[in-house]
Amino acid sequence: MLAGRIRASRETMSTFTDITAGCPNCGTQQELTVARGINVARTPAARDAIMEGRFQRYCCSGCRVEFTVLRPFTYVDWSRAQMFGVFPLADIDEWPRCEQVLEGTFSRTLGDESDGAPDGIPDEIRLRTVFGLDALREKLLLFDAGMDDAVVEVMKLRWVMEGGAAERRRPLVIDVVADMLVVRSEDETAVWSRADYEALRRDEETVTPFLDVLAAGSFRDLVRFAS
Ligand SMILES: [Zn+2]
Repeated sequence: MLAGRIRASRETMSTFTDITAGCPNCGTQQELTVARGINVARTPAARDAIMEGRFQRYCCSGCRVEFTVLRPFTYVDWSRAQMFGVFPLADIDEWPRCEQVLEGTFSRTLGDESDGAPDGIPDEIRLRTVFGLDALREKLLLFDAGMDDAVVEVMKLRWVMEGGAAERRRPLVIDVVADMLVVRSEDETAVWSRADYEALRRDEETVTPFLDVLAAGSFRDLVRFAS
């Protein structure tokens, strides 16, 4: 299957679309260009912009306030074996449907319904559904650091249950530096050590039941435990 010919599809190119969006500050309507599909090999600057928090940030033509616009898009980085479905944070309660959207895209691109994948694509693709560009950035940071994002979600769950962050807040890893994870939940910031992560990862008796729930789909997020 993986030795097939290159399929020029929406998922293997970077594609963009023009939309009309209102400024969240003053309401001025403006024409903006947003991603529908990012292939990092074709558009490496997009990954840099996501990591630096300036992807699809626009300056309002009316009030000059900056805002971010996000429409659902697919993000693929075959060199890192990654495929993401990125959805607006406002859609997070619809995560089962969004997972299906991504799985359908994956199936058409690389899976059973495809004509065959582009050459050089690894067998094991990390398939993830995320909500918001901060959540995408978090996964990219963790994967760059060679970490298991599901174990990090269990660390977050533990933090939430200990009262460190209110349940409806969404703790997000905002930086991985040396042996530290920097985690933010609204106005709270915590620093976790990589040693804690490694200890939890190795504690199979504790972590496995949680990992089983998280691994049931591509939305590897503690929100799964709320349903
Ligand atoms: Zn404005």
